[in-house]
Amino acid sequence: MQITIKRSDFEKMYEYALSKRPEEACGLIAGREEEGARHIEKVYLLTNIDHTNEHFSIDPREHLASVKDMRANGLQPLGNWHSHPETPSRPSEEDKRLANDSKASYLILSLAEEGTPVLNSFHVEGPEDGRVSEKEDLVILEDV
Ligand SMILES: [Zn+2]
Repeated sequence: MQITIKRSDFEKMYEYALSKRPEEACGLIAGREEEGARHIEKVYLLTNIDHTNEHFSIDPREHLASVKDMRANGLQPLGNWHSHPETPSRPSEEDKRLANDSKASYLILSLAEEGTPVLNSFHVEGPEDGRVSEKEDLVILEDV
């Protein structure tokens, strides 16, 4: 699966994640889906109510408001994103356990290397105690 994100949305996500350090930052992604490809049109920057550097829970009210906004703008929910302030851009065991939507894309932005954000998208499948993640083909589009 190919998934695209605009450079400006990537930058927005990065700046927000930096501002939330040392906590994990999180949010949702929405856009369009066509045969074999997904296009992120909007990134939602939401509150991590866990306020830790190890995991995240999206504020449920903000989650609901975002879903309403997606509907109002004709966007499909595509998945979510969160940052790893100190660890690499791949799902932790807990991330996999909580990734219960096999259709969603899970984006992880690593801030571990100062000045070099690393963003990857994952597809996660399988039973709760044995989920496997697979990297998606994420493309950052230069805005025109
Ligand atoms: Zn994580």
